[in-house]
Amino acid sequence: MKQLLLIGAGHAHAFVLEAFANQTDHHIALTVVSDAATAAYSGSVPAWLAGESTLEETQIDIAALCQRANARLILSPAKTVNTQARYVILANGDRIDFDVASFNIGSTLKPPQQHGNRLPQLIAMRPLSTLHRRWQALQNDVNHLPSGGHQRVVGVGGGAAGCETLMSVLAQLRKQRPDIRWQGHLLSASNELLPGAGDLPRWLIQRALLRADISVHHQVRGEALVDGGVLTHCNVLIPADIVLWATGAVGHGWLADSALPLDKNGFIRVAKTLEVIDQPGIFASGDCAALTPTLPNAGVYAVRMGPPLADNLRHACHGETLNDWQPPKRVLALIGTGDGRAIASRGTFGLSGKWVWKWKKRIDARFIARFNPPFED
Ligand SMILES: Cc1cc2nc3c(=O)[nH]c(=O)nc-3n(C[C@H](O)[C@H](O)[C@H](O)COP(=O)(O)OP(=O)(O)OC[C@H]3O[C@@H](n4cnc5c(N)ncnc54)[C@H](O)[C@@H]3O)c2cc1C
Repeated sequence: MKQLLLIGAGHAHAFVLEAFANQTDHHIALTVVSDAATAAYSGSVPAWLAGESTLEETQIDIAALCQRANARLILSPAKTVNTQARYVILANGDRIDFDVASFNIGSTLKPPQQHGNRLPQLIAMRPLSTLHRRWQALQNDVNHLPSGGHQRVVGVGGGAAGCETLMSVLAQLRKQRPDIRWQGHLLSASNELLPGAGDLPRWLIQRALLRADISVHHQVRGEALVDGGVLTHCNVLIPADIVLWATGAVGHGWLADSALPLDKNGFIRVAKTLEVIDQPGIFASGDCAALTPTLPNAGVYAVRMGPPLADNLRHACHGETLNDWQPPKRVLALIGTGDGRAIASRGTFGLSGKWVWKWKKRIDARFIARFNPPFED
């Protein structure tokens, strides 16, 4: 019996569990360690932030998926890994041994430094798995704001997640407290939004931000939270009441204490097979994996890696040859704009409209339903 350990229940591991549910393997004992029994599906996050869907509608039921795959689920996050002796230690102190292991633990971000005692309220957009707690806390606080006056919401980070979440959050806050005037500002370190996208999608996102009454500040890097706002890299204070921190993704800190090879952002370096460089029988996928050349941190790549990862994990358990995974050259990004519309972006191609938003919601609902089939007696 080979011990296969899945660390984290991200998008790619949902596919691995589905593959094992569809085809059991009596030579493999499957264990999943996760910090929660459900996992957020990234595609549904903007609709949830904008108040158009419930939290439940964004979650994959990992516990049920494990049951179907005949996998043991342990609800405690991994804290250390010993790649030589082949075990992980969990936060609850358990030691889990493995023959083959696979990491799909997503990413986090570097929070800003904070100096002062009248700081704006901060909501860090990563890690995604705990965003619902921070967003709920912010919405509760907003309920207690006095009527009238205005609030400045500053988004830091001009990538797709930064633009999309600022528009969605503002749309919801305006609905929640129409008696307050909400002003939006977006700080982008580069002089273009949506790095890697074509001119047309960039123009569409600029137009959407303008429509949402959000002022964009290009070449302004938010560095720290100070009394009254965000301090920029050139020591300018951008006044803020609420700050959404959506800067680039980085790897989870605890990986740095392991023998895993990491890139400069703290992600685990993998070969095309998704096997970790120089670590046979250990795999990584999704945001926490660094391929060469690197891929953007987007849920769509974690999703695409799922089925080939499932195959290679089986091959590794049986001592068979692994297959290379070929990342797609271009992927379609559907970016919600918080106003019942979305932008479709693929390479230089881009369009926007209400039907794009409906289309995105249909795709996302189908994805969730695939992993959460109705309960059968
Ligand atoms: C606000 C926001 C909006 C986004 N919107 C989109 C979008 O619309 N479309 C898109 O394609 N991408 C989007 N992204 C990017 C997307 O969220 C990520 O690229 C994607 O979630 C990565 O998937 P993953 O499977 O690698 O990890 P995740 O989906 O983050 O899953 C990782 C899992 O591992 C678990 N975990 C973490 N640490 C441990 C540990 N130590 N032990 C055990 N378990 C652990 C977590 O709880 C989580 O369940 C967005 C990102 C953000 C921050």
